[in-house]
Amino acid sequence: MATAGGDGSLDLRTPLARVLGPRTATALEEGLGLRTVDDLLHHYPRRYDERGRLTDLRGVETGEQVTVQAVVRRTRVQRMTKRRGTLLEVVVGDAAGGTLRLTYFNQHWRERELAVGREGLFAGKVTTFRGERELSHPSYLLLDAEDPDGQARAQADAWARGLLPIYPASEKVSTWQVQKAVAVVLDVLGPVPDPVPVDVRVRQGVGDLGDALRRIHQPRSVAERGAAERRLRFDEALVLQLALARRRAAQRALPATPRRGRTDGVLAAFDARLPFALTEGQRSVGAEVEHDLAQEQPMHRLLQGEVGSGKTVVALRAMLAVVDAGGQAALLAPTEVLAQQHHRSISAMLGPLAQGGMLGGADGGTRVALLTGSQGAAERRRNLLDAASGAAGIVVGTHALLQEHVDFADLGLVVVDEQHRFGVEQRDALRAKASRSPHVLVMTATPIPRTVAMTVFGDLDVSTLSELPRGRSPIATHVVPVREKPAFLDRAWQRVREEVAAGHRAYVVCPRIGDEPGAAPAPRRREDPARDAQEEVELLQALWDGEEPDAPDERRPAAAVLEVAPMLAEGPLHGLRVGVLHGRMAPEHKDEAMRRFAEGETDVLVATTVVEVGVDVPEATAMVVLDADRFGVSQLHQLRGRVGRGAGASVCLLVTEVDGESPAGARLQAVAATTDGFEIARVDLETRREGDVLGASQSGRRSSLKLLRVLRDEDVIRGARAEAQALVDADPTLATYPGLHDSVAAFLDDERTGFLEKG
Ligand code: ADP
Ligand code: MG
Repeated sequence: MATAGGDGSLDLRTPLARVLGPRTATALEEGLGLRTVDDLLHHYPRRYDERGRLTDLRGVETGEQVTVQAVVRRTRVQRMTKRRGTLLEVVVGDAAGGTLRLTYFNQHWRERELAVGREGLFAGKVTTFRGERELSHPSYLLLDAEDPDGQARAQADAWARGLLPIYPASEKVSTWQVQKAVAVVLDVLGPVPDPVPVDVRVRQGVGDLGDALRRIHQPRSVAERGAAERRLRFDEALVLQLALARRRAAQRALPATPRRGRTDGVLAAFDARLPFALTEGQRSVGAEVEHDLAQEQPMHRLLQGEVGSGKTVVALRAMLAVVDAGGQAALLAPTEVLAQQHHRSISAMLGPLAQGGMLGGADGGTRVALLTGSQGAAERRRNLLDAASGAAGIVVGTHALLQEHVDFADLGLVVVDEQHRFGVEQRDALRAKASRSPHVLVMTATPIPRTVAMTVFGDLDVSTLSELPRGRSPIATHVVPVREKPAFLDRAWQRVREEVAAGHRAYVVCPRIGDEPGAAPAPRRREDPARDAQEEVELLQALWDGEEPDAPDERRPAAAVLEVAPMLAEGPLHGLRVGVLHGRMAPEHKDEAMRRFAEGETDVLVATTVVEVGVDVPEATAMVVLDADRFGVSQLHQLRGRVGRGAGASVCLLVTEVDGESPAGARLQAVAATTDGFEIARVDLETRREGDVLGASQSGRRSSLKLLRVLRDEDVIRGARAEAQALVDADPTLATYPGLHDSVAAFLDDERTGFLEKG
């Protein structure tokens, strides 16, 4: 945390150049983005190597990243035969008689340094060359060298403690250099004032900041390191929660128009028309929302509920309450297909109530306008007019509604469907559309673990629909391992034929469209599987956006809609009417394909994940997902929610070539084993942890969240949240806590920068 103070000579804000000299400081800044003492001390070790484990050269295995302490036994320089240059070969040994080869190309001058008998630490990745293990171009530090700058001494100290910190490094700065810089800084650092009040520390059971900063870098035991991490992790959680608490407070301070419903309005008429009874959850969430709408501060509520739990009805009732209060509501969908579908289903549910002011319309009814990019000019003008005049109580469109020149007479409520990046910026855009802040309801079908709700979505109140409407049949999910059991695939197509014969419909989902222009983008791969919490948050957001991180892909291309559809129509599904739907189709063609499927003019729809969200065809009772292993766990859960929406028993078949024992196979088994969305979300996050993640290497990038893990650290987050709320309640601007105030400001800066970088 940013802190002023110290003994006057050196505090956390001191530029590194003043302590370390210009050369090291420049390297640390250019290589790792570290400018101040504070930056450096918050550049934590990535791991700690233990002395005993590392000195036994015989235990070193290919592929491992190692640090070994060893003595130079022999050296040799060879001229290369096939190309110009030299090869320096150094053999190092340990006390137990183990040896390891080190190689350097065109660096024969190192032979002078690496003289026989010298002892050092050598770090690198173990590879095998002609059956022998070696380190190619390892970085090293000689322990018995002349030691004018204390480098070897710092090293030996760390070694003596038994835990050697290994730092995230870059090409320009090695872990040794960081370690030495930290040692120098800690030697001269004065007392560190602690920005977290003592009572908070006592309540949360965390230690002093100065101690934590020393011990995270120079732990004398595993326990010390653990205590240091706990304190620093709490700091991260606290700053994040303070930022969120301040944002909540700021939102509460905004004026909004209270929208109180009526008992004799369009909402009451709608309820009377509903062909089913609301579930208990729909009723109670509805009451929460109505309560929020009646306040003079804008609602910011997240409505989560399983696919098919009936969120749309809840949202529609909220919109009608606002219409009853004389206002308008906008419903934003992530895609045109969904906007069109919402428009269609809302119009159908409202019936004559959606024909306000029209012949045959109900008295006191309203109108539902649709605004999409593919509309003709005349149609669009009419809808724009309805929005601007207030004739349309409900306006449905894509998120583009926010950017476009759409005027509302009196926008009171915005409902955002299946969208998770509805952040502060979008809310600002919205505020510009209404004279006062509109109320906001965000709907998501991906269940969000509680800690995630408290962090990524921490400034929203959360309502959950946990029960499915009655009459919904459970979806049976099976993995179809085509490598192990090729006959199962025939069985799957047979099943599709049976469903169609029974008057039902089926989806076939493929990862690709096919006929892609140009090659797929090169996969990105991270060097370091350990990832920081900032990435985790990004990943979570991507996850809830239904994005898949790029995976390294040496496999055959995945099944493609444009190849699978004709193959099925000529082969296993011969005689059935097969349609296609994918993202490269023009919007009107997509809409047409959906309509044909919904009305039963096609039996089987071969599609990409465009069918993922919100598409509602109750007669669809079977889904076959091809190359299911290429989808994320949450995405599969979303996909299968497209079936089982009517009364018929439904089946989802996950076809895959991976074997059941592999991690990918295990993920599919997990999807098949549970329909509990919270469990799925957890599996998803856990299995992705090891996988490739979004974004380039983290080295050199600053991140506010380094130690905090959203899933693991529930207790820390909960504690920090309570403390943050109390601090902000007592002192909304944090004026009496300048250290915390500055940390929150720095955090928000980082966040904004991150947002801009992402474009
Ligand atoms: P979600 O958006 O949460 O996935 P929807 O609101 O689209 O779910 O509802 C799915 C289907 O269930 C719709 O056809 C809807 O009309 C129906 N439905 C909603 N609430 C109920 C209920 N209480 N009883 C029976 N059917 C319901
Ligand atoms: Mg929906």
